[in-house]
Amino acid sequence: MGKMIYLDNAATTRTAPEVVQAMMPYFSELYGNPSSVYDFAGRSKEAVDRARGQIAGVLGAKKEEIYFTAGGTESDNWALKAAFEAYKAKGNHIITTKIEHHAILHTCEYLEKNRGARITYLDVDENGIIRLEDLEKAITPETILISVMFANNEIGSVQPIKEIGMIAREHGILFHTDAVQAFCQLPINVDECGIDMLSSSAHKINGPKGIGFLYIRKGVKNRSFIHGGAQERKRRAGTENVPGIVGYGVAAQRACDSMEERTDKERRLRDYLIQRITTEIPYVKLNGHPEKRLPNNVNVSFRFVEGESLLLMLDSYGICGSSGSACTSGSLDPSHVLLAIGLPHEIAHGSLRLTLSEETTKEDIDFTVDKLKEIVQNLRNMSPLYEDFMKKQK
Ligand SMILES: *Cc1c(COP(=O)(O)O)cnc(C)c1O
Repeated sequence: MGKMIYLDNAATTRTAPEVVQAMMPYFSELYGNPSSVYDFAGRSKEAVDRARGQIAGVLGAKKEEIYFTAGGTESDNWALKAAFEAYKAKGNHIITTKIEHHAILHTCEYLEKNRGARITYLDVDENGIIRLEDLEKAITPETILISVMFANNEIGSVQPIKEIGMIAREHGILFHTDAVQAFCQLPINVDECGIDMLSSSAHKINGPKGIGFLYIRKGVKNRSFIHGGAQERKRRAGTENVPGIVGYGVAAQRACDSMEERTDKERRLRDYLIQRITTEIPYVKLNGHPEKRLPNNVNVSFRFVEGESLLLMLDSYGICGSSGSACTSGSLDPSHVLLAIGLPHEIAHGSLRLTLSEETTKEDIDFTVDKLKEIVQNLRNMSPLYEDFMKKQK
């Protein structure tokens, strides 16, 4: 295989070498169970404690407000299901958006069908941003929770989180945010943003897979999600994933320390990629907000092109991208996010997401755009729709 150009960092990222290195001892010599009493196990307990501190530091949170989970999906499930149980005496209404990750949407559907919840799914504008007036209007005396993602995993749009937090505060409603894509990509302070719960996942920030956390503000009522031992202050039972937690701590520290410089570089390359695609390829549209977007996200739709074919052709040159969210690839339904921003089905089908990393270079981008131009033209030349369209243009 030739050189690979990995532009699918919203799906997952490379585990950084120093993260792997920090984890290694906890697979081998330091295998003690953090709950055991002897000194040897204390080393594992200390390591978990250190990682908790590293992560709390990034958010301006307290150590005891961080609860480790098995990833973003579990954190989202926990936040919604447990908050619903804990606050259902007050009301059964949850407000979320149409562009959430399936970890939120499918949990909401479960609560709706099985637990008597009423859910409002807010629309977004053509840039993928909610309207604060819609949020205000959706609030009722029964509303117990607002869950709005910090930044979208497909189109990169960043929500007005501070304003949402203020509205939630004013109405005495809990505010949860899925910050899996935003954690360590955008500065986040849970107090400044009025966030009560926040989900994150290590493998999106150069940490290992299968480890995440849920931040739960002190004083927020919340039920245990996994029952068993007394781990995670009795809220999430099960022997801690010590190597994973250690790796997460180091990944968070590393990504936070490098945030400004790293994301500046990503933003510049992102804008260069967008600029080249939109000026050099005709009949293309940028999806997501032009400025309020993740530093590493590019999402574009090509008319008269099938996204899946585009991905396969890119893959033949070693370029990894995504036609939507990795979870929905394999199904032919267009992405719910692209439909929510108002794209017609046929345009949504011709969409491509490229997400950069700290390793992405200008050469990678130039190679990708050169190939993309060729591929799009070849695919269009095979399209009867394109042929018709070109005839009419003349
Ligand atoms: C990846 C992702 C998740 C799921 O996280 P996992 O750790 O893979 O379970 C949830 N929400 C968003 C926005 C994501 O990008």
